[in-house]
Amino acid sequence: MAAAELVIQKYGGTSVGNVDRIRALAERVRRVRQAGNRVVVVVSAMAGETDRLLGLAQEVTAMPAAREVDMLLATGEMVSIALVAMALQEAGCIARSFTGMQGGIITDGAHTHARIRSITTTRLQRDLSAGVIPVVAGFQGISESEELTTLGRGGSDLTAVALAAALKADSCEIYTDVDGVYTADPNLVPQARRLDRVSYDEMLEMARLGAKVLQARAVEFAKAHNVPLRVKSSFAEGNGTLVTKPDQDMERVVVTGVTADSNQAKITLTRLPDRPGIAGSLFGRIAEAGIVVDMIIQNASEGGLTDISFTVARADAQQTLAIARQSLAEIGADSVTLESGIAKVSIVGVGMQSHAGVAARMFRALAAENINIVMISTSEIKISCVIDDKYAELAVRVLHAAFQLDSPDAHGSRNA
Ligand code: ADP
Ligand code: ASP
Ligand code: MG
Repeated sequence: MAAAELVIQKYGGTSVGNVDRIRALAERVRRVRQAGNRVVVVVSAMAGETDRLLGLAQEVTAMPAAREVDMLLATGEMVSIALVAMALQEAGCIARSFTGMQGGIITDGAHTHARIRSITTTRLQRDLSAGVIPVVAGFQGISESEELTTLGRGGSDLTAVALAAALKADSCEIYTDVDGVYTADPNLVPQARRLDRVSYDEMLEMARLGAKVLQARAVEFAKAHNVPLRVKSSFAEGNGTLVTKPDQDMERVVVTGVTADSNQAKITLTRLPDRPGIAGSLFGRIAEAGIVVDMIIQNASEGGLTDISFTVARADAQQTLAIARQSLAEIGADSVTLESGIAKVSIVGVGMQSHAGVAARMFRALAAENINIVMISTSEIKISCVIDDKYAELAVRVLHAAFQLDSPDAHGSRNA
């Protein structure tokens, strides 16, 4: 890092998980500041805190109001900013904590999954010019009607990226409990390898398909605003992984990463009339409820009747089931069933666009382990299969090996 740069450093839950870690973080930030750089620190809630708060809400009511959920969850990041600011002061720095609102993070009003509309940087700029280290609460903002909002799980990543764009920072570093982005979750696949660089599009697919190391929206924002992101370990030194624009080297690799997402549910409607308008009416109602449908398959019709299955996020399953039930009579279907024990395993890579037989290789690898594929979907740079949830980890390992991501020299050369 050259001198006199503006650096955004985001520290996730484990990196602020206890007082010792907060002290270690403060020491790292102090060194960056001492080298003459300006730093904005963005922090998450302490590890497990957001889940703990959600658990409390669930104890009080099965259906907490989204506005109150945001009010509750925002406290997690506020504990962290205050402690981190204190630790920085203790380390001899001039630091000041900022809530999302004080940091000028303006969002829309969609509680629990708000989008950032704009950032008013005046206060942060003033503090930065005065040599202060602002410590900003991740994951939270304020709507135009001054309601507290949160940015969806993992949203502190988005706060960091958005601040990097708004403040025109020289770099945006995401500190977490792994030392970069890997070919698969290193906590599931010990053979997984760290990627030196990964393209925005691949990272975006991996994040959407279950690799929680970065929030998908944060990657989307980074791509749109051309913010290079570096994912690093807050416990070890190293270069981490740079998320950036694609280069030719990246395209030479067929598969860059393997992911799994067990947060899925499948809904099946049986014996619907096979005529125009049926799917439009069913999926129209689901969309009106703001529920995103992922994969859809319709069977070949028999005697003018057909079955439709589709997947949604598990959190939306009950509501989707209720909507489908209400629609049964209107669309003339027989029954509707919900299956929660499914997972989506995916392979991602920009290189697969130019290689034939990638899908067949994936299906064969799963078949060799007797893993049944329930649904399939593909796009230019990914192939996803829905399988029984209990095989999700096995499937990730099998695919990781099948595309030679295990071997130390495969990545960066060819794995075709
Ligand atoms: P933080 O609290 O720092 O935001 P997260 O728990 O959100 O951290 O994300 C880091 C975790 O992401 C890692 O501990 C790892 O288990 C998981 N992960 C999933 N897929 C990947 C991947 N492909 N590369 C690196 N980490 C991954
Ligand atoms: N604390 C929030 C969460 O657990 C936001 C974040 O950590 O990025 O989802
Ligand atoms: Mg995270």
